[in-house]
Amino acid sequence: METKIGKHLIGKILIVVALLIGAYAMFIMNVSVDSGLPERVNNFGLMSDKQNYLFIAGILFLSGIVLVSSQEATQEITNETEQENSSPNLCPKCKVELVQDKANSSIYECPKCGDRFQE
Ligand SMILES: [Zn+2]
Repeated sequence: METKIGKHLIGKILIVVALLIGAYAMFIMNVSVDSGLPERVNNFGLMSDKQNYLFIAGILFLSGIVLVSSQEATQEITNETEQENSSPNLCPKCKVELVQDKANSSIYECPKCGDRFQE
């Protein structure tokens, strides 16, 4: 349990850090330099730095997404198993055990109210 929460948290932190780096590179980082000319000139070194930052941000973001979604997938599987264990083919209304349909093995029928359920 603790490892799962840790993984989830790391994933969220990675996404936040990635967004911060991305936002910094996109909006705050200045790639132009004062060249003495009336117009500012883009600096190639700074531009490639910016690209590197965006690349790192992208990788961090994706790993964050992977960590968070893998955590959710594990949670879903656990929930499914729990549900199956708690109600093994019982009619939700009558709480009577369902009987398998002779014609279709994936269909179950409640012997009390006659409701049909598909597995
Ligand atoms: Zn029933």
